[in-house]
Amino acid sequence: MVRYGELSTKGHNKKNFIDRLGTNVRKALHDFTDVKVHANQDRMHVILNGVDSEAVMKRLKQVFGIQTFSPVLKVDKNFGAVCEAAKTLIEKQVSQPVTFKVETKRSDHNFEMGTFEMNRQLGGYLLEQFPDLLTVDVHNPAIEIRVEIRGNGIYLMSEIIKGAGGLPVGTAGKGMMMLSGGIDSPVAAYLALKRGVSLEMVHFYSPPYTSEQALAKAKELTGKLARYAGSIRFIQVPFTEIQETVKEKVPEGYLMTVQRRFMLRLAVELANRRKGLAIFNGESLGQVASQTMESMRAIEAVTNLPVLRPVLSYDKTEIIKIAEDIDTYNLSILPYEDCCTVFTPPSPKTKPNLEKATKYEGWLDVDGLMERALKGVKIEEIHADQEFLNQNEDVFAELL
Ligand code: ATP
Ligand code: MG
Repeated sequence: MVRYGELSTKGHNKKNFIDRLGTNVRKALHDFTDVKVHANQDRMHVILNGVDSEAVMKRLKQVFGIQTFSPVLKVDKNFGAVCEAAKTLIEKQVSQPVTFKVETKRSDHNFEMGTFEMNRQLGGYLLEQFPDLLTVDVHNPAIEIRVEIRGNGIYLMSEIIKGAGGLPVGTAGKGMMMLSGGIDSPVAAYLALKRGVSLEMVHFYSPPYTSEQALAKAKELTGKLARYAGSIRFIQVPFTEIQETVKEKVPEGYLMTVQRRFMLRLAVELANRRKGLAIFNGESLGQVASQTMESMRAIEAVTNLPVLRPVLSYDKTEIIKIAEDIDTYNLSILPYEDCCTVFTPPSPKTKPNLEKATKYEGWLDVDGLMERALKGVKIEEIHADQEFLNQNEDVFAELL
């Protein structure tokens, strides 16, 4: 049984949210063909039909929009079956001494036992079975065994497992995520997905300055993030000609600003063509030269689409913690350089001036460069945990 998160407060949007969550849960469980998903008004029921509950629950934990969920056992309508099921629940959940109580509801009034009687007798049975683990506390128990006596059977549950929270992916519209191979942008992507944004990844690469492995790394990171979205489109944009031209013609202090302005323009153009509503990136205020407010202003001036920065206020240590939790960290720290690192000047301006940036760009064929980069775009759909890195290649070979 799945409990909805924040979406239950969203008034008339509620139906959209529930339908989307139902779709996302079905997608996340698509390979368990026997599982049935019923997304109702107040709760979702995931009927296992014999499928391993652990495997299903592991997937459910990655679906945004789920506040909590509980394993539920359905048994025949006799007291012996209830006792056995309750015993199983305790065995699964309890290893240290705890307080508990039994709480029964009954909609089938023909059943032989009343709620009070069920509470008392089942409580007594469990105390007998687990004398060293359980004590009763009816006011503030650590665990509650809930029993529901209904027409078609008796349902039992106790454990409440925390879900991923957030909003169902897709309920907030589409955004273009500027994904590098670094630590920050995958975390930013995760946080955007968590707020219900469906993302398409935009990745700039610069062969031969960047390797096949750098591209593969960005794709593999996308595979990690696709766990939360079912699948994610990956858009690779060739950036070599732009970087070479900028490097040749623009004064060194403005290389970075002008390159970033090109990246943003390209991401915006892709958003316009593909109905994206905003651009997301992994910038954190003050982290490096390109991430000062002056710099953001000079770069962002190329568009009036919102540029959203989910990790803006996070410290590096906080970002790393999330990267570890979502399993992107170990990939991010692999030493395949992406296109920015290769062309980063030794001392970029931390307070670039918008007028100068515009002036230097006046020396370049901006439209032509954009057009050729967009012609070289390749798009592919990446699924959860899809692998791209060549495991046999020596990680350090590239460093030599
Ligand atoms: P990250 O760890 O996300 O790479 P970073 O701290 O290394 O971040 P930068 O390299 O300055 O910072 O990049 C800032 C942001 O610009 C990135 O978070 C990402 O959103 C975007 N970006 C940088 N390089 C690329 C790239 N090759 N392709 C797509 N987006 C990029
Ligand atoms: Mg980077």
